[in-house]
Order: sequence, then structure tokens, then C-alpha cells
Amino acid sequence: MTEVIEWLPDGTPYSPRYGDRYRSELGGLAQAREVFLHGCGLPAAWADQPQWRILETGFGLGLNFLVTWQAWKADPQRPRLLHFVSCEIHPASAADMLRGAAAHPELMPLAQQLQRQMWGLLPGFHRLVFEEGQVLLTLCIGEARAMLREQLFEADSVYLDGFSPAKNPGIWDIHTLKAVARCCRRGTRIASWTVARVVLDGLAQCGFEVRKTSGLAPKRDNLQGEFAPQWEPRKAAPAKAVTPTNCVVIGAGLAGAAVAASLARRGWQVEVLDAHDAPAGGASGLPAGLLVPHISPDDSLLSRLSRCGVRATLQQAEALLQAGEEWQASGVLERRMDGGSGLPEDGSGAGCDWSQAASPEQLAQASLEDAMACWHHRAGWIKPARLVNALLTHPGISWRGGLHAAKLQRESATGSWQVLDSLGRPLAQADIVVLAAGYNSAQLQESGLPLQAIRGQVSWAWREAGQAALTGCPVNGYGSFIPAVPAEGGSFWLCGASFHRDDTDTQSRQHDQQTNFERLQTLLPDAARCLPPFESPKVQAWAAIRCASPDRLPLVGPVNEATHPGLWVHTAMGSRGLTFAVVCAELLAALMHAEPLPMEHRLARALTAQRFGLPAKS
Ligand SMILES: Cc1cc2nc3c(=O)[nH]c(=O)nc-3n(C[C@H](O)[C@H](O)[C@H](O)COP(=O)(O)OP(=O)(O)OC[C@H]3O[C@@H](n4cnc5c(N)ncnc54)[C@H](O)[C@@H]3O)c2cc1C
Repeated sequence: MTEVIEWLPDGTPYSPRYGDRYRSELGGLAQAREVFLHGCGLPAAWADQPQWRILETGFGLGLNFLVTWQAWKADPQRPRLLHFVSCEIHPASAADMLRGAAAHPELMPLAQQLQRQMWGLLPGFHRLVFEEGQVLLTLCIGEARAMLREQLFEADSVYLDGFSPAKNPGIWDIHTLKAVARCCRRGTRIASWTVARVVLDGLAQCGFEVRKTSGLAPKRDNLQGEFAPQWEPRKAAPAKAVTPTNCVVIGAGLAGAAVAASLARRGWQVEVLDAHDAPAGGASGLPAGLLVPHISPDDSLLSRLSRCGVRATLQQAEALLQAGEEWQASGVLERRMDGGSGLPEDGSGAGCDWSQAASPEQLAQASLEDAMACWHHRAGWIKPARLVNALLTHPGISWRGGLHAAKLQRESATGSWQVLDSLGRPLAQADIVVLAAGYNSAQLQESGLPLQAIRGQVSWAWREAGQAALTGCPVNGYGSFIPAVPAEGGSFWLCGASFHRDDTDTQSRQHDQQTNFERLQTLLPDAARCLPPFESPKVQAWAAIRCASPDRLPLVGPVNEATHPGLWVHTAMGSRGLTFAVVCAELLAALMHAEPLPMEHRLARALTAQRFGLPAKS
């Protein structure tokens, strides 16, 4: 459930849980600007910086974020990228956030954009994307101390906000303040509305120099300060951020295009090479596929990761593609062949934004009245090749087709990587190369990333009149079925996909057509009955090769900084590339720039390229 908020007669929001008013909203816009934005020396401090990272301890109704975003928008010297990372244990509803912002009409256009993305805020990190990816809000839902400990970045400014120390002491205690200090660099500025002794003393103990400053009436004092410990803070050496120059991405599937776009947004000139003459010549050329979260009773790491991924791909699809033609957030019905719901037992309101038990109407629409199924609200179909092409249109990206990379060679004098063809001729050169060539990434990198090729084939055909059972939404659970995808000249249905390990043959096979049909007979018997025979020429086949790692999770990050400096990998998207590629690309870019991550640290750790052992030679 989202947090219950009461609205007092004077219009201020009040929390019955804490018996306190929402602090940032007290005194409105001028107060929020004065205390936090100006309290941290902004906007002057971020002028002409490539990035600025703000950390906040309590999101509340989001007023500080909106005010900061507004200041960023208005500033001609704004940083290219604004990160705003905010912790919140009890997220307010989107409607309450909007109601709070309604008192400040100038913020409403921003609040409305925020409202559209404030859904499904389960515990964990949620990356909300604005301004074509230049304003990134990471909402960290959970107890502040725990959420702070999941951060790896160093903040440039810290907004200490929350209910008063008397009402909510935990968010101001020494342990939380220590966790804040862990996220600071020397010189990080800090600001708060409270000058409670316990906060002043706690901050001083954690290495902050703090002072009271005069506030805007009716508030007499605010707190400002700076991280300036008298000692050298003991923390893991922060990752060294690289400065954007030029880089090469090998592979123009969804993984390559997404990483190229994430880097181009950060100021890189990216050259994308591919062996095919057009982008999306590999698995990403799939005519249409499903974008759907994974569910598990224990809300496993894969389930959490898949939600981060679905949110990220939906955002990109909304921003870049035409709904109804190139993708559709249709919802997906997942038939549960094991008879269980698959959903976590304590599914809260936010969980229901994502997935819940299918209603009798939803089951009836698929003629599955007696089946067990769940309904994924935030899911649908997408044509991945359209997304690849849209991502590659960023002005920072140049695409070169028909170039088969055969070898990588590091020049010891310059430290840069040369990409060579099979005759040893140079194709491209850069200090940073990202391998996104699917299962070929292993050969390219020579020392052998543990990648497996998995052949897959889908069956599809143009829809004909009288196929009444082909209505409704896509269904998955035992293979998948998409009943209607619009295309030039009509619409088609699609089902699949077959699965053959260590098979790299892309010729279509009748045997796989039959397998797809048999699975469809189990998944959706009524639909299977009204389709033409799968051996008829009407039903076409499309096959390609997936690339998977031994644990079926993507490989994202540096290959091995010690032996292969500058070589990164972004592959092993397996059977869920449409879900994983966009968020993993953002993860790679965040790791490269030592930025806030789009997911909890422990999820990111599960994707490191080195988890199966380090490649030895270059
Ligand atoms: C039949 C089938 C059905 C699927 N259904 C779904 C689905 O419903 N939902 C979902 O999420 N996922 C699905 N997937 C998986 C999804 O398609 C992939 O995970 C995703 O497309 C992988 O993207 P990629 O960029 O890593 O790989 P690819 O799209 O294969 O891109 C790799 C690129 O690298 C290029 N390349 C390779 N070697 C070299 C080289 N040496 N030099 C230059 N270029 C090179 C290739 O030409 C290719 O363009 C399906 C896959 C298949 C095969």
C-alpha cells in the first residue's frame, strides 16, 4: 500500500503514521529552494559540470526533486546529467504527490511527468527517467540506512529531509548519518531544515563541518555544512570515472544499441560496428517479442532485476516508438502450468501495479476459465528491431554495417584497442571497446567469456478473417503467443520459441515448427485449433541465436580491469533481452562513470563479467 496522507485544512499534508507534517511542503516552494537547493550552493555549484549527483534521505511528496529539476531546466549552465537519488520507506501515492505539487502551478508540468512514472514502487531501487535521460531519479524504497548502504557513488550534494527528529529519530540517528557520510566525498555540501542538537552533533561526529544559517520566515535557522573530516575516511577506493571521448561498440543488436545510446547520452562519440548490413541482424531481429516481468514466491533476484528491466524498456519504448504499431503495453497473461500463482504471498498494493492473479474475465478472454494464471499489467509486446534503430539515431552514434570483427588487439604504446578483421586489417580503434556481439563476444575476446549459444525459432503467420479465438492479449507460461501484431499489409500472430543449446544454425526447421505448435496446443488449445497447420507455407519461421551465461543472467561491466583495461562486455541477455538490455546498458554506463546505479548494488554484483573467473590474457 502507498502511504496514507491526511490533508489539513490549511492544505499541508500530514502523516498519521509519524504524527507530523511533511516538512518540505511546509512554507512551500521558496522554503524548499532556500533550504535545500541554495543550502547546497546550487545551482552555482553544478555550473558546467558533466554530472551532478544529489542524495536525499526522505523523498516525501517529491517537492525537493521537482524544485531541483526545475532549477536544472532553467539553468543554461546545467550539468549534462542530473542524478537525484532519494530514499523513502513509505512512498506516497502519485495522486498525493500531484496534490502536493498543485499548490505550485509552475511545478505542475514536471509533477505530471513524475506522476506517470510513480507506480509499482516495491522495496528496492526504481529508476525514473526524464528529459530524454538527462534527469535520472532513483527512488530507493526501503529503510534509509539500508538503502544508503546499497549506494556505491559519491554524492555532490546531500539533502537531509524527513519528519522531525522527535517523530522519526531513526532517519537522523548516528548510524544513518554515518551511512550518509559513506556516500560523500571531501567537499560534498549538505543541507537540512532541522538544527536539532542531535543532528548537528551527529553530523560533526561523522566528519561534517556544520553551521546554522538564517532561514526564510517563519523559519529562523537552517543547517548547512560540508563533508570535511579531520581524518582520511576508510572506504573502498571509489571507481575512477572516465571522461567521455570516443568508443567502439561491437554488435548492433539491442544490447549494442542500448549501450551506445546510454554512452552517447553521457557525451561519448560512439561507433557501432556490425557484421550485418543493417542493425538488428541477429536475435534482435525477432519480428516481435514479449516484455514481461519474472515472478517468484520469494521475489528472487531475477524477479527484481526483471522489474528494473521492464520499467527501463517501457520508458524507452514510450519515448522512442509508436504505441500500437511498434510496441504495445497490452498486459500479458501468464499461464501457471504448475498450478501455483507464482506471486509473492505478501503482494502489496505496489506489487499489484505489476502483477496479480488473473481475473475471471481475463481468463475467459483467453478461453482458460479453469486455468491458474496471473496478469502482468506492465508488460506487452515490442518489435525489438524498431527499438534498435531508434536508439541508434542519437547524434552521438555512428553506425557501420558489413564489418566482421575477428580480433581485438591492445596497443601497448597508446593503451587503445584495435578492432581487426579476419585479414588483420584495422576496422576501428578506441580506448574503450564494448563487446555486444552476442555469443561471438567470447571468440572476439579470445580468452573465453563463458557464453553459450542457444538457437530459437518462432512461428508466425498473417492473420486471416474468421480467426475469432485470436483475440485478447499475449499469453506466456509454456512458450508464448502474441495474437495480433500490426504490420504493413495487415497483422500477424506469432508463437514460440524453440530452444536448442550449443546450436548456431539459423536455418528454419520444420521440427521446430511442430514443437511450437505442440506447446501452443497445451498453452492455448482454442487458439491452436483455429490456426492453419504449421507445416503449411502460410506459417512462416524465423530463427536466430540467443546468447546465455551459465547462470542465465547478463554479463555487464569491465572484462578484467587488470588484464584487459578499457574492454567492457554487455551481452548474455539470454531469453530476456527485451527486458534486460536497456537497464543493463544504463548499468554499464553508470559503472563506467562511477554514477548511482539503476539497481541495488547486490543486483548489479550478480551481473559482473568476472563472476565466473577472470580471463587471463589479452
Ligand atoms: C526465437 C527467439 C525468441 C525470443 N523471444 C524473446 C522474447 O519474447 N522476449 C525477450 O525478452 N527476448 C526474446 N528473445 C531473446 C532476445 O531476442 C535476445 O536476448 C536479444 O535480442 C539479444 O540482443 P543482443 O544485442 O545481445 O544480441 P543480437 O541481437 O544477436 O546482436 C548481436 C549482434 O552482434 C553482431 N555480431 C556478432 N558477431 C560479430 C562480429 N564478429 N563482428 C561484428 N558484429 C558481430 C551480430 O551481427 C548481431 O547484430 C528471443 C530470442 C530468439 C532467438
